[in-house]
Amino acid sequence: MPSPSITNALTIDVEDYFQVSAFAPYIARADWEQRECRVERNVDRILALLDEHDTEATFFTLGWIAERYPQLVRRIAEQGHEVASHGYGHQRASELSRAEFSADIQRAKGVLEGLTGQEVAGYRAPSFSIGTANLWALDSLARAGHRYSSSIYPIRHDHYGMPDAPRFMHQAADGLIEIPITTLRLFNRNLPSSGGGYFRLLPYALSRWMLQRVNDADQESAVFYFHPWEIDPGQPRIAGIDRRTRFRHYVNIQRMEGRLQSLLGDFKWGRMDRLFLDRAVAAAGH
Ligand SMILES: [Zn+2]
Repeated sequence: MPSPSITNALTIDVEDYFQVSAFAPYIARADWEQRECRVERNVDRILALLDEHDTEATFFTLGWIAERYPQLVRRIAEQGHEVASHGYGHQRASELSRAEFSADIQRAKGVLEGLTGQEVAGYRAPSFSIGTANLWALDSLARAGHRYSSSIYPIRHDHYGMPDAPRFMHQAADGLIEIPITTLRLFNRNLPSSGGGYFRLLPYALSRWMLQRVNDADQESAVFYFHPWEIDPGQPRIAGIDRRTRFRHYVNIQRMEGRLQSLLGDFKWGRMDRLFLDRAVAAAGH
């Protein structure tokens, strides 16, 4: 049963269904403006769920969304949640030059801080796109004034992942800590165990067991993530996409909200900054 002594981090990547990286080959960036936006109603539904469970969370928000829905970003902050950055335009960090990456993260941070009047300490790369080939991005994040990143997924996956990266919080650059998405160490492998398509695919009891095991065996807080479009079975279906992309995006989408309800009840949740930044400062001895 849940260990009430350990609080886990609940994180939401605020983007709309047409912005997911796997759809990039099918939906031109220039067409985003013509798509029906559903992010606002979906985030409001999430805010209501969190309120019902008296839970705070971290919202890694796209600058593109924040510019179009400024009141939504203010509502997130006013309801006690952490507003963090998911970059501006949802390009994978691995596809940008250093100059382009710096411009993207600075633009997003500026937009978000302008709306909330609060420091944006955290950043999550689109599609966990920081890994062995572009660790320079961590220095760019520190230089832009971010204090933590949650961008490295220590698993093997066809689109992302750095399987040999540390599984838990670690110093990543001068002034910046990395807090990876949670994996379960089993049979000498890191298994994805904390959100995304895997959480929709696997039976809820198995996901709950994996998170509980990280709390009990590793004595660590888990970092769980999901997207607003994952609780929206009514979203427009994207036509002509390959089978694997279709499966990953839509599998069990109608079950997601119920599972989130269970997850919110079964574990204790909080914001990334309060859970990890205070601990990092204490560990550094100042
Ligand atoms: Zn994203």
